[in-house]
Amino acid sequence: MVNVISVANQKGGVGKTTTTINLAASIADRGYRVLIVDIDPQGNATSGLGIEKSEIDQDIYNVLIDEIPIQDTIHHTSMAKLDMVPATINLSGAETELISMMARETRLKSALDAVSDQYDFIFIDCPPSLGQLSINAFTASDSILIPVQSEYYAMEGLSQLLNTIRLVQKHFNKDLGVEGVLLTMLDARTNLGAEVVKEVQSYFSKKVYKTIIPRITKLAEAPSYGQPITEYAPRSRGAKVYDDLAKEVLKAHGKRLQK
Ligand code: ADP
Ligand code: MG
Repeated sequence: MVNVISVANQKGGVGKTTTTINLAASIADRGYRVLIVDIDPQGNATSGLGIEKSEIDQDIYNVLIDEIPIQDTIHHTSMAKLDMVPATINLSGAETELISMMARETRLKSALDAVSDQYDFIFIDCPPSLGQLSINAFTASDSILIPVQSEYYAMEGLSQLLNTIRLVQKHFNKDLGVEGVLLTMLDARTNLGAEVVKEVQSYFSKKVYKTIIPRITKLAEAPSYGQPITEYAPRSRGAKVYDDLAKEVLKAHGKRLQK
């Protein structure tokens, strides 16, 4: 059975895309079949995995709006077990176009059902908003992974996110859960980071991953080479921390670590 996980937080710049790419790649590196679906019009996961705009004929916009088969939009990446459905700036129109469409909340779910037997995990990289695109992602997902930046105002907006999760549970997807809360971009040199870590842990308790992602320059560099950290710098600290996270996620799903 596939596990569909949305990576979401309506705040921008908290590490959603970095986590989507590198967690997905680390799980693929451990032998599981993984699909990344980019539903952020900024397309950062798409470019971060080295997919050029010129190579993209049809993208997630055409899946959601024109109902083309999602299979026709899947790109292979440099990693054998990692595929991706790209997004381009086309998708920015979808937010308003969806509003007047039939079955607008379940379009992504219907599309993913067609490929769910081909993957062990599907990760959806969400946009920094709680509109129709995120609702489609949440409706299609088993759970939500929430990256939280280890900085001032880390918790800001999280009640809104949890509220949207509850609304989607109530109306479209009663089994939706919180996969986990991930602290990102921890700067070990400041006390502030440690305080935020404590605050987030006391609020979400066991939902918070033991793995905390520090601020690591190589993690910010890798996307400009179109590679996940497991390929760009396989022996680096960034690769190690995302592999630690992958192990936690695999264990939570009762999967063998296979490496
Ligand atoms: P989001 O998808 O939530 O907007 P990103 O993953 O794009 O956030 O991260 C925002 C910026 O911070 C990007 O430039 C990214 O390269 C950088 N970044 C993310 N995580 C880290 C990290 N652990 N260490 C250093 N830079 C990071
Ligand atoms: Mg992003």
